[in-house]
Amino acid sequence: MYILIDQKRKKIIIILLFFLIALLLLIFIKSTNNELAVYGTGSFRIIVDPGHGSIDTGTHFNGLYEKDINLKLARILTVKLKENNIRTAMTRNEDQLYKDSRNKDLKRRPTLTGKLKTDLFISLHVNQYHTSQPSGSQIFYKTNSDKSKLLAKTILKYLIKIRPENDREITPGNYYVLNQADCPAVLIEIGFISSPIDRQLLTDNKYLEKMANAITAGIIEYLKTNFYN
Ligand SMILES: [Zn+2]
Repeated sequence: MYILIDQKRKKIIIILLFFLIALLLLIFIKSTNNELAVYGTGSFRIIVDPGHGSIDTGTHFNGLYEKDINLKLARILTVKLKENNIRTAMTRNEDQLYKDSRNKDLKRRPTLTGKLKTDLFISLHVNQYHTSQPSGSQIFYKTNSDKSKLLAKTILKYLIKIRPENDREITPGNYYVLNQADCPAVLIEIGFISSPIDRQLLTDNKYLEKMANAITAGIIEYLKTNFYN
């Protein structure tokens, strides 16, 4: 009788252990996929970082949320980059925060540059002001980084071509995601949610497409001047 119970217990323990190992394996594969499986082909690696996510909405106006605009542009931008044979990864591809924590999420974003041996880090955000006048995009670059400044300057050249209001001076940005990035890094405020004209453009897929094309053109010119000369 005792032996029978012991064998039964042994069987149950083995089955439980099997399920536990399977579960751990699944969690491991999922977490690795989240960070690594996004890359395509090509030799250059770029991380596109759509700012905010989930409960961290970023700036907003009448039900229009920065986090959604950032993600929309990021998705278009990664497609354009991939079309140009550039490997891309996104810090998030859904309306979410890493481990549902603003803090953990913010800390994780720039660390991916090291893990993925990234060449450039492009963070996308939306600006806001207390009056409706200011409009257009603005680029901030990683402080004390000449390469980041050059990247910002090169992208700006193309952003001006699609809209004169985008001609705002490039500025060093003391942002965590930029400072902690292991590579040249810029943060692009793509427009002002407080401006009615910008709001129209930020919700217009054709304009986002133009933005993505301009950013891609700037990135390609930067890569050519920095890696091929
Ligand atoms: Zn933001």
